[in-house]
Amino acid sequence: MADVLVVSELKDGELKKISRELTSAARKIADAIGGKVHTVVIAASADKYAADLKAVGADAIITANLGDFNPEGYANGIAAIIQEKKPAVVLIPHSSQGKEYSARVAIKVNAGIVADAVGLSVDGGKVVAKKPIYSGKAYANFKISSDIQIFTVRANSQEVSQKEGAGSVEASSASAGEVRLKSLSKDLSGGNKVQLADASIIVSGGRGIKGPENWPLLQDLADTLGAALGASRATVDAGWISHSHQVGQTGKTVSPNCYIACGISGAIQHLAGMGSSKYIVAINKDGDAPIFKVATYGVVADLFEVVPALTSEFKKVLG
Ligand SMILES: Cc1cc2nc3c(=O)[nH]c(=O)nc-3n(C[C@H](O)[C@H](O)[C@H](O)COP(=O)(O)OP(=O)(O)OC[C@H]3O[C@@H](n4cnc5c(N)ncnc54)[C@H](O)[C@@H]3O)c2cc1C
Repeated sequence: MADVLVVSELKDGELKKISRELTSAARKIADAIGGKVHTVVIAASADKYAADLKAVGADAIITANLGDFNPEGYANGIAAIIQEKKPAVVLIPHSSQGKEYSARVAIKVNAGIVADAVGLSVDGGKVVAKKPIYSGKAYANFKISSDIQIFTVRANSQEVSQKEGAGSVEASSASAGEVRLKSLSKDLSGGNKVQLADASIIVSGGRGIKGPENWPLLQDLADTLGAALGASRATVDAGWISHSHQVGQTGKTVSPNCYIACGISGAIQHLAGMGSSKYIVAINKDGDAPIFKVATYGVVADLFEVVPALTSEFKKVLG
């Protein structure tokens, strides 16, 4: 029992980047503990995804036809695959879906679980997961003592590396089984153009933008960079933007490669949601704003001058 099983995630029929990240991380863990990598694709066929997953280390790509997302159904199906494959380690995206079904899976297969890992390593044959604690003020390392170790892993926290696996494709007979929870309708009105949780670049605005009429300034920069639009709670509470854009303790937790904070002071509750971003760029006219303590690059200036200038330069460079 030294295999690693990854549950991949699709969006609009395409493989989400987290699926490649987790398969790459699984490859490293499996190489360290001497096992294989199984990547589960929740779809009727894996033809479209197999080459991609093989390239980043999947030895087996397992299709599971579990129907539309239902946390109970996914938990039933994934638990059945775990019981069949008997992996030592299971990696699940720390996405809104993953958060809903992962703990149910852990209960069904009698496994320990650590949620929201941002670092994975191996020590003495067990995975060590690093995760933020105290709203991101500190990190702690966790090991799981049960035979099966389950981790949910934050998007953009793992490198995608090209190391080919055997890449066989097999169909699982696992099903969603009996479910009591039924989805009656979907409301997608709060959906962003680029989803915050998956974005590798986020342009985020705070009370410094002065009013909702100024979002187009930030949206223009975001569109130029292919970025998602984030917001501080102050702007959400003021009714300038919907809660689906809020980053922070009571909003979304994000971990992009680059987070551009415009007119955001950097309150601890905001940092809790974006402090693990790889590069943080802060634009704030107050040089003492706490955001500069975590910023990789800081611009002490008026965002109404800096943001249009940045957008225009990026447009020249990116076309
Ligand atoms: C329980 C709890 C949960 C919370 N959860 C969250 C959360 O999830 N997310 C979150 O964001 N907050 C959260 N908060 C609120 C948090 O404490 C702050 O109040 C909030 O983050 C402040 O938002 P802000 O930075 O936009 O506004 P402010 O703190 O008002 O900062 C505005 C900044 O804009 C700068 N500025 C002004 N004009 C310009 C200009 N022209 N150019 C450049 N800079 C300018 C100012 O210098 C200032 O630093 C929570 C609070 C509590 C108590």
